[in-house]
Amino acid sequence: MNPAVRLPDPPLDIMERMGSKILIVEDEAKLAEAIAAYLQKYKFSVALALDGEIALQKFHSEKPDLIVLDIMLPKMDGWHVCQKIREESDVPIIMLTARAGEPARVQGLEFGADDYLEKPFSLRELVARMQAVLRRAGKPKEDLIKIGELQIDLEKHRVKVSEKLIELTPSEFGLLAAMAQHPGRVFSRTQLLELMQGSTFESFDRAIDSHIKNLRKKIERDPQDPEYILTVYGVGYRFHDATK
Ligand code: CA
Repeated sequence: MNPAVRLPDPPLDIMERMGSKILIVEDEAKLAEAIAAYLQKYKFSVALALDGEIALQKFHSEKPDLIVLDIMLPKMDGWHVCQKIREESDVPIIMLTARAGEPARVQGLEFGADDYLEKPFSLRELVARMQAVLRRAGKPKEDLIKIGELQIDLEKHRVKVSEKLIELTPSEFGLLAAMAQHPGRVFSRTQLLELMQGSTFESFDRAIDSHIKNLRKKIERDPQDPEYILTVYGVGYRFHDATK
């Protein structure tokens, strides 16, 4: 029996997200339909894709607000689909994986997924994760990011810590701004380098590490125990997610 099907959990408070369009990419038709039925009950609008190629087509034609993406798929796997979508969109992506353990998680996040759920999962858990990423994505992009003592003014390219102006190089500012606009998302060093294209420094992982080190010295209270820019071992970095 599919574990996702047998859990008639009470509805969560998802009224605020009614009407959001969800693309479900899952080749197990029964599971895909169970997820779809559950979401439709709560007025989500749902599109289905049973393989990776259709997923990309539907991503373009349906313009979903969120994608639930299985990893093991015919034609093109979920990692690849996620990577392709990230080349052109910030749409929230939740990966589904049957593979337990850290490597899958790290890999999923490295390809730019916002969250990840291991099978078997309950539909209630899935909806809770969906709510969290939709809430984050739905926040208007503000020019001023404030977290703790840190303030980042994206328009004026100014950073303050405890109201004190901090001098950052353009590279450092670019890195900080890119990460801070997606709190919680893991960026690999390669992705960070791509974000920094156009700035002049050697394209090695170590270049990112030294920028991060300098940034931490400037914005963290204790650079050895950072609050804002967190290390994800073996992958890269992520900005502190205050909503979690
Ligand atoms: Ca599958």
